[in-house]
Amino acid sequence: MQAASEPGPRFRRVLLKISGEALLGERKAGIDFEVVRSIAKQIQSVHELGIGVGVVIGGGNIFRGEAASRRGFDRATGDYMGMLATVINALALQEALEDVGVPARTMTAIQMPQVAEQWIRRRAVRHLEKGRVILLAAGTGNPYFTTDTTAALRALEIEADVMLKATKVDGIYESDPMTDPSAKKIERLDYLEALNHPKIQVMDSTALTLCMDNNLPIIVFDLLQAGNIQRVVQGDEIGTLVAAREPAKA
Ligand code: UDP
Repeated sequence: MQAASEPGPRFRRVLLKISGEALLGERKAGIDFEVVRSIAKQIQSVHELGIGVGVVIGGGNIFRGEAASRRGFDRATGDYMGMLATVINALALQEALEDVGVPARTMTAIQMPQVAEQWIRRRAVRHLEKGRVILLAAGTGNPYFTTDTTAALRALEIEADVMLKATKVDGIYESDPMTDPSAKKIERLDYLEALNHPKIQVMDSTALTLCMDNNLPIIVFDLLQAGNIQRVVQGDEIGTLVAAREPAKA
């Protein structure tokens, strides 16, 4: 990462976490291909700056194991279904990226060689070095985890400078800005404040703890605003930063 005074992007390599829900657009379920295309264009603009981009994509627009288990469905089976859902989303984004001329490789944590490459850390880093965007699908390959935890884990494995957590709102608020118009945005939180906050849930505790223990900064920002990914990597202070008070990496 460069010092703030130097010109150019703030980060050398980023891990972008996109929730499955982000792909919904105005739909109730499935994939809005216009939204996927606009996300691909945003990634393209970051890729053009020479920044390495790893993407972890969720599956909540298609299936969530935990939600199914609350209705009596077997949790582990539901989680495997959720992980497969993330592969569907990754393939959609891979297509959209290649359509706009960005070389992309989907890598899955559950082997499916006819569909995509297997997740192998060293191969993933090689793809990044060769200027390819990597789409990391099928979560961690294990039930009972989330794609936020996957994003933290993969960010550390590929030595990303930051995890960019894309959401539908422009950061973390004291209360839900969708229902409370007077809700105040929080500029910065440390990990423990984020973990212990009585009202907000930035990410699940497994994911947050992994970031905290390894001093990985997280920027929560609004993906739906065109150009935002680029703004974040260029150091514009949008969204909310979750990091140690004296961060080693941000
Ligand atoms: N999942 C899992 N293990 C993982 C990652 C994901 O079992 O390592 C399953 C889990 O059922 C989860 C679903 O995949 O509900 C989709 O992921 P997630 O809910 O994190 O997606 P998002 O909310 O980001 O759309």
